[in-house]
Order: sequence, then structure tokens, then C-alpha cells
Amino acid sequence: MNELTEAKALLAERKALAERTYEEKLNELKKDPVFDEAYRRLARLKFEIARREVYGLEKSDLEKEKEEAEKTVEKYFAEKGAKADGADYFCKKCNDTGYVGGKRCSCLEKLRVETALKNNPSLSSVPACLENIDFGFYGKNGDLYKKYAAFLHKKVVDGEIRYCTILGASGTGKTYLAATAAREALEKGRSASVVKSVVLNKIFLNYHCAPLEKKEEIWAKITDPDFLVVDDLGVESLLNNVTIQYLYELITERADKKTVITTNFDLKKLEDRYGQRIFSRLADKRLGAMILTQGEDYRLTDGKI
Ligand SMILES: [Zn+2]
Repeated sequence: MNELTEAKALLAERKALAERTYEEKLNELKKDPVFDEAYRRLARLKFEIARREVYGLEKSDLEKEKEEAEKTVEKYFAEKGAKADGADYFCKKCNDTGYVGGKRCSCLEKLRVETALKNNPSLSSVPACLENIDFGFYGKNGDLYKKYAAFLHKKVVDGEIRYCTILGASGTGKTYLAATAAREALEKGRSASVVKSVVLNKIFLNYHCAPLEKKEEIWAKITDPDFLVVDDLGVESLLNNVTIQYLYELITERADKKTVITTNFDLKKLEDRYGQRIFSRLADKRLGAMILTQGEDYRLTDGKI
């Protein structure tokens, strides 16, 4: 189940609870004959007024009676700390339906992001957007990392770059940068996930060994997210007929989505280990970008940020 589906299910529960609470209060109130009479009368009057409206008949004599019944009903509901006109929904904008004018309501978005952060702890520990990174953390390379972050923001999260590989020594904060980009995509309404290459390799193996009917579900975990970070590529073992084969398929299938890879390898090692097919996709002039974080020597595919 993806985060949006999970968030929708939570919202549906919330909506049902609000409606159940209203029904329970109503049923409780109906035990009082004064309320019950006023409630029934109000329903009858509303119906009759609506009917007269349709036929263009005089209805003013009923309006006053309706107001009185309404007052009685409202008073009883108020005593129960409730509203008379229906369930007290958590979100007043969408009445807990999750949609306003066909678009996702902010309450659904909030639940979706919260669910995603709960499912992906590596996204909950980074800033909500690349701009909010504390670049002081990168010491003398702070300005450089600010440029990388601006590139990720403009060209990858918001732009047309599909594959971005961040290369550099371990402990240089590549994962943090990539995870923040994923978090930014998440906050902008997309689905995002971070997977360590070792785990990815296990998913590949699992997929390889799974019976046919299970394959789709396993594969969807890594092909579904709009934004995927493959963290620390190169530390996984190379499994025959698995690692490179499925990595290539994954990268190919994700051609319309965003994939950010972090690795301690340099370009040559990357090409040597994963082969020309994968390397040329990642280094594609139009859709790929490489960020070399070591020292001043960095290169982006189009040569500029
Ligand atoms: Zn809402």
C-alpha cells in the first residue's frame, strides 16, 4: 500500500468516526420525546418547504414554525457539545473527503507526508527542502554544497534531469543531500523513497526468486516512487544475473521518474563495475547528471548550474 492510499484510509476512518459520533449523539437525543418531536417536525417542515418551492407555492407560514423547531434541535445538540447540522468533521475545507474541487486537500497532503515520513525514517531526519540545509555543516565546502543543492532543486526535483549520480568519498554528506532532495519532492506532492544499495540488492534477489504472482508487488516498491534515492551504490555484493541485470532494468523503467544515486566510487570505477549500458544511462547528456563532490573538481553534465 503506498502512502497516498494509506493516508486516504486514515482520512476515511476519521470521516467515519465524525459521522458515527454524530449518529450516536443523535440517537441519544432521540430518546428525549421533546427533542424527538422537534426533530421529526423539522424534517417534515424542510420537506414540505422544499416541495412548495418546487411548485411555487406560498411557504412563509411554515418558515416560522421551522425556525422554532430548529432552535429546539440546536439547543439539544449544543447541550451535547455538538452541531445540529451534521457531523463535526476534522477538516472544514473538505469535510474529511480529502478533495476540494478535484484536488487533494491540504489535510490529505499532510497525512500523506506524515505517513511517508513514518515509513521512511531517513526522510524524517532531513530538512523539508534543499534550501533549508545548514551548509555550515559542510565546512569549507559549504558554498560548493550550496551549488549542488541548487542544482538538485532546479534541475532534478523541479527540472528535467532524471538520473543524478552524486560521487564522492564517504562521510561527505552525499546521502544527506540526496535524502533532502527526496524529502523536497515528497513535500511537493510526489512519492519518494530512499533505499540503501544493500537493501536494493536484496529486493532484486527477492524479485529474482519470487513466484510470478509476487513479482509485480516486489518490483513496484522500487519502480513506483516518483523520486527514488539509491544510497551508497557499490557497497553491495555483485550477484550473478541479479545485481547488474536488475539495476539496468530498474534504471530503464524509471526513465520518466527521478532517481538519485550516491556512491563512493569515482567515474571509472562506476563504469568498470556496472558496465557501459548502465553508465551511459546515468551519464546521458540530456537526462543524466553527475556531481563529483570531491574537492573543487566537480562536474555537472551541462557544465553549469
Ligand atoms: Zn481537508
